[in-house]
Amino acid sequence: MKTKPLFIVMSAPSGCGKTTLIDMLLQEYHDIVYSISCTTREPRGEEEDGIDYHFKTRERFEELIRENAFIEYAQVHGNYYGTLRSPIEEVLAEGNSMILDIDVQGAAKVRDYVRSLPDDDPLKVGYVDIFINPPSMEELRARLEGRGTDAPATIARRLANAEGEIARAGEYMYRVVNDDLGMCFRRLCDLIDALSGRM
Ligand code: 5GP
Repeated sequence: MKTKPLFIVMSAPSGCGKTTLIDMLLQEYHDIVYSISCTTREPRGEEEDGIDYHFKTRERFEELIRENAFIEYAQVHGNYYGTLRSPIEEVLAEGNSMILDIDVQGAAKVRDYVRSLPDDDPLKVGYVDIFINPPSMEELRARLEGRGTDAPATIARRLANAEGEIARAGEYMYRVVNDDLGMCFRRLCDLIDALSGRM
């Protein structure tokens, strides 16, 4: 079935199940491609170039900035991170969709970029942004504590960040609550099906 290529931007506070949900979507929809960011930081552990990130030198990254190759970029802990425009363009031109996993600030930059595009630009035509909400702050705290991997100070910082991010959920076109993983996934599928014309 021919479907409308989507440019999906997804954000969620840490602990809201975003990574799991994106993995589930990639399993379900073989025509959705995950956007791999560029970074100047060193690969960690098993990370591979072109899978986890496109690892770039600082010089190359800055050259790409000058060439306006990024739809957004930011410096985090002294390293650059950014999203290239050309892979998204290529994926949409092939009739497939691209999903971008990005924080609220990055998403705001992408949104501004997309707004500045002509109305017939495929990135604008297919654009949709979705915010995954936790059921409540109490539930989010319980989930972060339940992971048992983070120190109390880290959990406190994540919760404070989450509060700031949730306050900006209204900037997104769609908000989906992850109260139950399976239900949340179904809602995302229904949304994607409707937007891409699968039903
Ligand atoms: P890490 O180095 O731990 O993989 O990522 C550090 C931070 O960079 C994370 O908060 C992550 O969300 C952010 N990040 C990763 N890719 C991008 C990107 O393409 N653009 C922006 N703005 N931030 C990114």
